[in-house]
Amino acid sequence: MASIFTKIINGEIPCYKIAETDDFLAFLDINPNAKGHTLCIPKKEVDKLFDLDEVTYMGLMAFSRTVALAIEKAVPCKRVGMTVIGLEVPHVHVHLIPLTSMDDARFITKSAHTPEDFEAVAKAIRAQL
Ligand code: 5GP
Repeated sequence: MASIFTKIINGEIPCYKIAETDDFLAFLDINPNAKGHTLCIPKKEVDKLFDLDEVTYMGLMAFSRTVALAIEKAVPCKRVGMTVIGLEVPHVHVHLIPLTSMDDARFITKSAHTPEDFEAVAKAIRAQL
């Protein structure tokens, strides 16, 4: 069965899109740790990061860096943190999280946003790409 992220890639489930290439997609996390929390994924559906072929792995890192630099310009924060977990969704995803404190990296405190908030931050990040 297709992962929830493959459904997002195929447009079957909506997302707040940040960036897209032939091989990768970036979109806002629906339950963010902090405003601007973004997921970068390969379109190729693979469960675990280190099972990616090397070209896709390196491409994902380069794509994530481009998106992180845009987030850093668009969202007030001390820095953008990068985390890979994958215990919830078995489709490789890099979390890019604007950090102002260690709590933002802990996946315990969540940040509530309206659809308008999501739209606004997605637009601000896209403008910095
Ligand atoms: P992990 O697998 O790394 O533990 O976490 C999966 C992440 O995907 C979570 O932060 C969760 O909020 C996010 N997520 C799960 N389902 C969806 C979805 O349908 N849309 C979006 N945008 N994010 C999702």
